[in-house]
Amino acid sequence: MTYQDTLLHIGGRWSEGSGGGRIPVLNPATEETIGWVAKAEKADLEQAVAAAVKGFQVWRRVSAFERSKVMRKAADIIRERTEDIARAMTTEQGKPLAQARLETLTAADMTEWFAEEGRRVYGRVIPARAEGIYQLSLREPVGPVAAFTPWNFPISQIIKKLAAALAGGCSIIIKAAEETPASAAALVQAFLDAGMPDGVINLVFGAPAEISEYLITHPDIRKVSFTGSTAIGKQLASLAGLHMKRVTMELGGHAPAIVFDDADVDKAVTVLLAAKYRNAGQVCIAPTRFIVQENVYDQFVSTFVDKAEKLKVGNGMDESTEMGPLAHDRRVAAMESLIQDAIAKGAKVRTGGERSGNKGYFFKPTVITDASVETTAMNLEPFGPIALMSRFDGLEDAIGEANRLPYGLAAYAFTRSAKTSIDIANGVESGMISINQNGLALPETPFAGIKDSGYGAEGGSEGIEAYVNTRFVSQSGA
Ligand code: NAD
Repeated sequence: MTYQDTLLHIGGRWSEGSGGGRIPVLNPATEETIGWVAKAEKADLEQAVAAAVKGFQVWRRVSAFERSKVMRKAADIIRERTEDIARAMTTEQGKPLAQARLETLTAADMTEWFAEEGRRVYGRVIPARAEGIYQLSLREPVGPVAAFTPWNFPISQIIKKLAAALAGGCSIIIKAAEETPASAAALVQAFLDAGMPDGVINLVFGAPAEISEYLITHPDIRKVSFTGSTAIGKQLASLAGLHMKRVTMELGGHAPAIVFDDADVDKAVTVLLAAKYRNAGQVCIAPTRFIVQENVYDQFVSTFVDKAEKLKVGNGMDESTEMGPLAHDRRVAAMESLIQDAIAKGAKVRTGGERSGNKGYFFKPTVITDASVETTAMNLEPFGPIALMSRFDGLEDAIGEANRLPYGLAAYAFTRSAKTSIDIANGVESGMISINQNGLALPETPFAGIKDSGYGAEGGSEGIEAYVNTRFVSQSGA
């Protein structure tokens, strides 16, 4: 497979940006430049909005039944192209091939899920107070959408927005990540090949702040959806608020994983270790604060450390690799700074804590113990392969630590007690909680944060809500 350079897709055409700008793309496993992505200028964004407006007029009139057919065909095409898409993703993002394949296949599942949900966007007939009057609640597409997606899951972050928007009858402009453009373009190509009309899906890249400023404030854009850090999410939500745009925000997390002393500790280690180091920890729902009950703390930490040390870190293209490099050098610098800060504040590095090798953005799976709550990593999303372990005595202490931070995305717990499970499910402030297993982020289940982790569900039957308006019609005979 040769890595493809990526163009913009506007109004049914792939093209370079009007200014001819190109942004280099790197392979994080080798640090080599592997290609480029075209940079959109204001003139290109103007065209993208005009195309999305036209595309919306076409797509909103296509019946839900027909939309569903095109989407299901796109899902089949994605599945057929899994190997090529996964290889492009691993080359530009770094994750192991097996994870890239799974992400691609899950995108096909997500497309199918929304293809079906789009046929069930029902309105209501509301009983009237007088004879001969009909009161109708109608659900209609919001309009052209601007979606901003990050590099950690180059396809999965797009498809949650794209499939729901299309199913709801909206057109979309996707500003995908400049670090991972080829897999995004391959996803869009699958929809085009399935018969998507021109202008319904547009794909741009460039300077993120300039693009978001232009699209969010543009009167023809009716809906904004962003996945990324809480800091940027707050800026974009404020801007969208000034322009009264509907918004979905899928932001950062700092997931607590609470392990009780009645849990199956080996299972807890296996499940949580896989969740921690998947995609080198660059996952918004990755467990980060491991809060372990006193009696099983030593056993949990030593088993976890042992397994973390055995993980095979390497180039994701090697089938035996279990953890690839970080996606770019900013994450390496962030890991080093978090670890320095933790050591300076008295924490202990039980394993890892440094780069692995001297070429590529590889970082060792890291376990830190004895980190005080003043430690930066205990408060800011590490977004990398760092696990922080602390002890607790009773349920209230564990819930107190879990809820200490303003984040509220995912949480995990392990216990054999039904009562404790219920107390945790009710007491932990998070949009999603998975108990005794890792069961988050399926196409048919809602994915949503609360508190500083954002608002609006993606996935599940709830996912389509973000892309439809409710309108009301009251009518009587003439
Ligand atoms: P970043 O915060 O600058 O960028 C994160 C994403 O937001 C990127 O895709 C970027 O292109 C986009 N972005 C940044 N500024 C933007 C703007 N003004 N308008 C529109 N999009 C904008 O930093 P980064 O170094 O790429 O990632 C660092 C942090 O981002 C991580 O620590 C993590 O907290 C967060 N992040 C979260 C997710 C997630 O799944 N929630 C994914 C990727 C990154």
